Amino acid sequence: AQEALRSAGQQSSLNAFVDIRDDLTLEQAKVADARLAAGERGALLGIPTAHKDIFVTQGWTSTAGSKMLAGYKSPFDAEVVSRLNAAGSVSIGKLNCDEFAMGSSNEKSAYGPCLNPWDTQAVPGGSSGGSAVAVAAGVVPFTTGTDTGGSIRQPASLCGITGIKPTYGSCSRYGMIAYASSLDQAGPMAHSARDCALVLNTMVGFDVKDSTSVQRPAVSQGMREDFTAGFGKPLRGGDGAKPLAGIRVGLPAEFFGEGLAADVRAPIDDALKQLEAMGATLVHISLPRTELSIPAYYVIAPAEASSNLSRFDGVRYGHRAAEYTDLKSMYENSRTEGFGLEVQRRIMVGAYVLSHGYYDAYYLQAQKIRRLIAQDFQAAFQQCDFIAGPVSPTVAWNLGEKSADPVQMYLADIYTLSTSLAGLPGMSVPVGFGDKGRPVGMQLIGNYFKEGELLALADHYQ
Ligand code: GLN
Repeated sequence: AQEALRSAGQQSSLNAFVDIRDDLTLEQAKVADARLAAGERGALLGIPTAHKDIFVTQGWTSTAGSKMLAGYKSPFDAEVVSRLNAAGSVSIGKLNCDEFAMGSSNEKSAYGPCLNPWDTQAVPGGSSGGSAVAVAAGVVPFTTGTDTGGSIRQPASLCGITGIKPTYGSCSRYGMIAYASSLDQAGPMAHSARDCALVLNTMVGFDVKDSTSVQRPAVSQGMREDFTAGFGKPLRGGDGAKPLAGIRVGLPAEFFGEGLAADVRAPIDDALKQLEAMGATLVHISLPRTELSIPAYYVIAPAEASSNLSRFDGVRYGHRAAEYTDLKSMYENSRTEGFGLEVQRRIMVGAYVLSHGYYDAYYLQAQKIRRLIAQDFQAAFQQCDFIAGPVSPTVAWNLGEKSADPVQMYLADIYTLSTSLAGLPGMSVPVGFGDKGRPVGMQLIGNYFKEGELLALADHYQ
């Protein structure tokens, strides 16, 4: 833990950490030491980690990367954080992210951008940029992230690490500062699928405090789910020489069309050849509504955000304007000063699509498209066991390159949004490097609750 704290300090130019408290870290480390000395063993016991600033944490500030929550201290820990604490992991601090997890580059943070350790001219991706950077730079072996429309997978891809968003409802949202509640899902980010599986074992679990928490089927059948159980074994009847025999990997035409950069496609094609060499069959499939995932997501997510963010009114939490004349101007001034421009844009879009007269035209249509997208995946899973494709259409772009044009930024989410809208598990696995030596990740998507197999598949490749 001390080494990780030192390394976090040395890497401060990357701006991955937004709150470091040596005293709290060393306190947790002492507890872990005592447990180890007493003979206790556990995969995460004494292992340094850090949490995306979207998770509320006791002791450290919890700001969601927003001025609105500057200095805010939570009286409780998020459920995911409590679970990791109970397993004995030692937190180094809080990690930079786009404000309220809205963004794809970590440039929309009140703390300023976080830099990609592979090339400091490049963005790390977002919104869990700090979580990806802290792992990629070697500060801690794993971090927590959240993914609403790609925020674990995309920064993992752009920083050359592994990250998984589990099936919606698998990790508790209790204490995760809400962006879009029907999409938000926590997950681990680490170097390998194996490390992600070990962390997921602790992160996943039903929680009565989250009304959308799901009881996973294995657990309802009385089994203890171990996400590492399939590791090192042939998947579904393959043998040692061809561990992926019988596995069909679907390649959606819409994920490999125009718009996918050649330098991203090449390492993914190589990775697919390796899966084939291990016995997998590549099948061509279609996810016909992929393009519609962008307008559907960018209606639904802002709609939910406009509702979730109404709690930040200058009365109960965070920032309150110094100057106002009446209640209305207090709300207005507090929210205008506290929220960044991207957050304000989304609140306005959300309020608009939910308003009388526009609800049917936008919000309801988007919900219908969401349902069709989920159905398209189920049709695809009739033809294949897993789906593979890119995570991001390009390697990490330069800082500032897309910040002036929100639509350009939204379009870069094309390959990750549909998985989120359907609530399916998806992960990013590093497969190589593109232009300028910037990392490339491959996305692997499984059907609901197939995280164990998904991670085992990734592990065979790794
Ligand atoms: N880039 C997407 C957005 O801006 C996804 C963010 C996320 O998954 N939190 O909404």
